[in-house]
Amino acid sequence: MNPTAYRGRFAPSPTGALHFGSLLTAVASYLEARTQQGLWLVRMEDLDPPREIKGAAREILKTLEQFGFEWDGDVIYQSQQDSAYQDALQQLKNKQLTFACNCSRKHLNNTASRSSEGIIYPGTCRHKIDIPPPYTTRIIAPDQTFHFIDQLQGPQKQNLHHSLGDFIIRRRDQLFAYQLAVVVDDHLQSITHIVRGSDLLSSTARQIFLQTMLSYQTPEYTHLPVLTNAEGNKLSKQSHAQALDLTHANLHLYRCLTLLVQSPPTELTNASLHELWQWAFTHWQIKHVPAVAAIDLSQDTNNTIYY
Ligand SMILES: [Zn+2]
Repeated sequence: MNPTAYRGRFAPSPTGALHFGSLLTAVASYLEARTQQGLWLVRMEDLDPPREIKGAAREILKTLEQFGFEWDGDVIYQSQQDSAYQDALQQLKNKQLTFACNCSRKHLNNTASRSSEGIIYPGTCRHKIDIPPPYTTRIIAPDQTFHFIDQLQGPQKQNLHHSLGDFIIRRRDQLFAYQLAVVVDDHLQSITHIVRGSDLLSSTARQIFLQTMLSYQTPEYTHLPVLTNAEGNKLSKQSHAQALDLTHANLHLYRCLTLLVQSPPTELTNASLHELWQWAFTHWQIKHVPAVAAIDLSQDTNNTIYY
């Protein structure tokens, strides 16, 4: 296979059934991959067993199939990638970029300053030695501004030292942090293009930093608007987004295309899933997707069925 070819991915967390917000991301990443003659891989981000719902991963894959998505290769499960994450952590340790931290959340809440990203870790444990477990593992955040160009949201920059400080790559409970896992998996799956929700835009500088430290390629990033409810919360399991009603699968796909401002013709409202996908493969233009962080679904009375 041509190693420079487009390789995209969709990476849901099996914390519940697929809802309309995740469907929108799946549709955009799938159409972008397929119209670039690329591959589209699926990865289950089941990194956090306490948050998972039994059977949700299987349910999500079944729903994707029923919507007509076709993924390439085997589905990767983060729960089975522990040794790969361990290797990456060891590489970072060997470069003396990591340290153990036993600061309690309460202590940091009371003492550390804050940015729009949350607490800025003040470096308290950087030079402590022989901290007994349990401890979190942090990586030293460089005082350096990371610049990247998001394909939809435009130029972005972040200084990790000033906005977050040294961040966690392995949790106190020994689970690997999302930031490390996602970087390792994107590398192992040779992902070239990441199309995902704008809620992850502020994670991107951390991920580019980790890629650089691990000598991985940095993919192209495209951050889509996330869908929000009337309270401004992202549509998610936590905001009580409903599971998708598959008897209206074609209507859901039509709505996704409309919200992504692909302007499907009204006569396709009652088209079959197959006809809609055929139309979308021909007409998809990522540049028509609005370059905003969020779309408020409550402004569209047709969409109230989704939450
Ligand atoms: Zn600490």
